[in-house]
Amino acid sequence: MTEKLNIVPFVSVDHMMKLVLSIGVDRFLTELAGYVEEDFRRWPSFSKTPRVASHSVDGVIELMPTNDGQLYGFKYVNGHPKNRRDGRQTVTAFGVLADVGTGYPMLLSEMTILTALRTAATSAVAAKHLAPRGARTMAIIGNGAQSEFQALAFKALLGIDHIRLYDIDPAATRKCAGNLDGLGFDIACCASTEQAVEGAEIVTTVTADKQFATILTDNMVGAGTHLNAVGGDCPGKTELHRDILLRSDIFVEFAPQTRIEGEIQQLPADHPVTELWEVMTGTAPGRTDNSRITLFDSVGFAIEDFSALRYVRDRLAETDFYEALDLLADPDEPRDLFGMLLRAAKKQA
Ligand code: NAD
Repeated sequence: MTEKLNIVPFVSVDHMMKLVLSIGVDRFLTELAGYVEEDFRRWPSFSKTPRVASHSVDGVIELMPTNDGQLYGFKYVNGHPKNRRDGRQTVTAFGVLADVGTGYPMLLSEMTILTALRTAATSAVAAKHLAPRGARTMAIIGNGAQSEFQALAFKALLGIDHIRLYDIDPAATRKCAGNLDGLGFDIACCASTEQAVEGAEIVTTVTADKQFATILTDNMVGAGTHLNAVGGDCPGKTELHRDILLRSDIFVEFAPQTRIEGEIQQLPADHPVTELWEVMTGTAPGRTDNSRITLFDSVGFAIEDFSALRYVRDRLAETDFYEALDLLADPDEPRDLFGMLLRAAKKQA
């Protein structure tokens, strides 16, 4: 990427796919996980706020800002479970990285693909710290847009190579199994959640339904399991029965946001949870023994998007996978914005 003054690089969906493919999905996920872990380890240096959510009957639109004093990032993201019926994505997103010193944007990027990658990378980072050692088998309940990314991140970071799939829509399971075919997995397509979780040391729930759902009941979760609960990420939208939460050691991204949006919205506001960064920095324990149930109550936090944008910006520097956006007005004299308009009018005349 050549540095051009006042030009903002824009990464379209097409360019994002080219970037991901040129790096390779596994390497992309592994390196991105490294950026996420690096940023979680310096958690106190970020400004943090629960995301700003705008709810409607069928979904939610959210803004997710953060900054580390040098760089500012935000993501615009939606969640509309009914979209799929009209051929649209449940989740779409774009984001911006900006220079805190000048306030100028430095990068504008699609983040639909990037969100799937960063969510999977973050889940795998959490599992690296929490899942039972030597785990090889993961059940994935909900086989939609996020599911393959989850499988690939767990393979790249933890060596998970046995995947057990279930979705209420068998077409989704066929799609997921087909996409993962030949990528080094032993894949079982299951007829129910009960069947899918059999023998799985890790259970990922990544379903989409804008209501309190019970994807997992208490009897389905055995001692020692690591739960990666990704789909419950909105007020009124959860996946796990409350009894599971009461048996689990619960780990979250940013507790004030997860109390609003995560599985723990079902629990009293003072129920103890541990923020993941505390485990990564060694200030709080992760898994304490092989019989504990660990739960990563994932909702997606702004710092993960910041890490993802930072990673894309660094990798983009070696490529031409972007368009140069004329996003910043640049009059010769900064106060002469109107003069710039007049000169443009003369040129057009
Ligand atoms: P998607 O619509 O592409 O797929 C969801 C799948 O869940 C569908 O195939 C659907 O048939 C299936 N499903 C619904 N109810 C089910 C049930 N009871 N049992 C089994 N399967 C069921 O959605 P997606 O993009 O894959 O996202 C999945 C969920 O993850 C959404 O709720 C989304 O909001 C959430 N999400 C969370 C994060 C995060 O950081 N935590 C990030 C991205 C998406």
